[in-house]
Amino acid sequence: MTEQLRREVCALHAELPRNGLVTWTAGNLSARVPGEELMVIKASGVRYDDLTPDSIVVCDLSGELVEGSLRPSSDAATHAYIYREMPEVGGIAHTHSAYATAWAIRGEPVPCVMTSIADEFGGEIPVGPFALIGDEEIGRGVVETLTGHRSPAVLMRAHGVFTIGPGPLEAIKAAVMCEDAARTVHLARALGDAVPLHQEDVDALYDRYHNVYGQR
Ligand SMILES: [Zn+2]
Repeated sequence: MTEQLRREVCALHAELPRNGLVTWTAGNLSARVPGEELMVIKASGVRYDDLTPDSIVVCDLSGELVEGSLRPSSDAATHAYIYREMPEVGGIAHTHSAYATAWAIRGEPVPCVMTSIADEFGGEIPVGPFALIGDEEIGRGVVETLTGHRSPAVLMRAHGVFTIGPGPLEAIKAAVMCEDAARTVHLARALGDAVPLHQEDVDALYDRYHNVYGQR
């Protein structure tokens, strides 16, 4: 089971550079090992071109290495905390993608001003608190901000984006959509006002996207 998950998470990491979400090695993706108190996560400081399934390590849900020969990502404790506190989460992505992080630096949520934001995020993309890297403080900020919120993405103040999903594919998709929303709203704002959608329209769009759109 962990073998297959390591291969899947390794392959999905290619989406980070492909979608312009990362500089050098600053981004990572993890997945919960179903039915176990374990997760798989990228090893620290490995370049995306050099990633193999062996560069994806198995950790327990306090972020300690269980299987693999490399040190886990410095964000392992954050991912582990989120899996512990949010049992519905099966995948987590983290990036410092430029436009979304620019909003995080200003501490301003991306407002829900276009249909694709209503679809994916069900409202604005919220801002979480500033926290130092390394222990569980970032995880606490992510969980506090996203609990009871429709958004699968949070802009962590002066840092970057964390996204959650039922699996790693949904988490990385949310990271791609978050950067797209941040970029497009930034462009709109540069040219004039961006008017928030009405709540009933946001609700209708979110419902359609999650219950009707796509292949059933
Ligand atoms: Zn980071």
